[in-house]
Amino acid sequence: MTHQEEAEERSYEHWATVISNEVIEIFGKKQVVATGWAPSGFYHIGNFKEAVTCRAIHRELISLGADSYYLLNIDDVDPFEKIPSFFKEYAKLLKPYLGHVICEVPDPLGCHDSYAEHFIADALAIMNDFDVNPDPILTSKLYKEGKYDKYAKLFLEKKEEMYELTEEITGSKMEDFFLIQCPECNNLSAPKLIDYKFIDDKIKVEIFCQKEKRGCGQKSSLILGDTIWKIKWRLDWAARQDFLGVTVESSGKDHGVSGGSIDSSLAIHERIFGKSKLPMLITHGFLTFGGKKLSGSTGSGLPVSKFPSILDPSVFLYKIYRTNLRTDTDFKVEMDVPGVASDFDVAEELYYQERDIEHKKTKEKTVKAYELALMADPFEEKPIRMDYGQLVTFLQVYLFDEERVIETLKAKEIIPFNISNRDLQLLKNRIQRAKFWIENYASNNFKFSVVKNPKCDIVKLLDLPVLKELYIALQNLPEKYQGDAITQHLYEIAKEKEIKPGNFFRSLYQIVLAQKSGPRAGTLIDVLGKAEVSRLVKEALDCF
Ligand SMILES: [Zn+2]
Ligand SMILES: [Zn+2]
Repeated sequence: MTHQEEAEERSYEHWATVISNEVIEIFGKKQVVATGWAPSGFYHIGNFKEAVTCRAIHRELISLGADSYYLLNIDDVDPFEKIPSFFKEYAKLLKPYLGHVICEVPDPLGCHDSYAEHFIADALAIMNDFDVNPDPILTSKLYKEGKYDKYAKLFLEKKEEMYELTEEITGSKMEDFFLIQCPECNNLSAPKLIDYKFIDDKIKVEIFCQKEKRGCGQKSSLILGDTIWKIKWRLDWAARQDFLGVTVESSGKDHGVSGGSIDSSLAIHERIFGKSKLPMLITHGFLTFGGKKLSGSTGSGLPVSKFPSILDPSVFLYKIYRTNLRTDTDFKVEMDVPGVASDFDVAEELYYQERDIEHKKTKEKTVKAYELALMADPFEEKPIRMDYGQLVTFLQVYLFDEERVIETLKAKEIIPFNISNRDLQLLKNRIQRAKFWIENYASNNFKFSVVKNPKCDIVKLLDLPVLKELYIALQNLPEKYQGDAITQHLYEIAKEKEIKPGNFFRSLYQIVLAQKSGPRAGTLIDVLGKAEVSRLVKEALDCF
């Protein structure tokens, strides 16, 4: 745990509250929250983490009475440096555009005006699914509007200070401040600035389009702005924060390392722009899937667009918001889904005061994370929730028959007969998601199917005395016991009869599911019914 993480751990307040109060202290009520993304590939989990982090701060600022504006800077003038693996088959079409700006590279699928546009629509739709709705601002538009012009001049005028600053912070002198598109071949990353001079309020530049960087080898003389141009990343970032009036922005932890882009940006604000109030540039921990940071350009792993098919977006946001800001989180889609849903349900019970916990700090953070995760105002009354993990069991026992599952839940009084339409809809949504998860992502540990008759070849390998005790235990199972009470009861009987509990439960799974493991024994018996389980065990005894 880092120093920062320990501090967060100690704090009673949620990180969104801590940051919001701090930034209000600096800038007052008027706030601009920014996030950024370059559409050079699919919108991935890292981009998503940044956007949802900023959403929480934006929402908390509003709840603290600030006038907050949330913007998304879309860098569509990024040079196209690599053909992503998912576009391999279009390599011939795309290759001539390497080094060009992504807003001028064609969409290989032909469904959008440009390569950049192809990914933008998708990203905005995903964000909207998670109630992340920043105002999208295209970098190309900002350059066209001349927003960066004065910064180009300023950086050149103060070039000695810039050299000194970049060398001091990064350890190497920044030679070139700009990327300028070659008017001959349209390449953005090949030209090198060889000379410049100020003419009135314009800058005349000489560039050389380097062949070794896929350029045409031509020299050109032009006015900066006649072709597409951009200020290099760290400088561009500071300039943009300045003219957009950004007060708070979050980025991945890698930006916060010593000598990283945050250090550079802050130094530019202070020493080049001469500001005393610096934007709050915070960092967040990484979110990974099964240990992998997903890359938008390779398109590997679970796409963010699939999240809402397995979990309610609020449930997923809750997981992110309940974690310390700078802590890395790994999400194993094949294992963690039921647990994440169950954590959300617990938070909801706390919010509606249907349960309490001793630990005041934990409670405060949990309730705030829950509030921030909601995508609309909270319901007046707590919704009725059905445990995701239990649904996974019910669905598989009843062969994914939604109506039968709902009828059984009512018959077992797990949900009330007169469940409201709203809660029934919430339940149906969860059923659809659990079904999709089992069918597409769940690990084999969660999957099973109930046998019609026990398989004697498997059963014969089990201990007959254990099976007999299991049968007796089922016969004598008190009627009022449900779920975990059944598991506990069986566990105690096993110990009393000096049978290893593992052996006891494994025998049950082998008979009922023809596999070594399965859902919690109590849940399985509950869902399937004691009579049906007894019948299967009785038949198993007949194998001998
Ligand atoms: Zn397209
Ligand atoms: Zn060229």
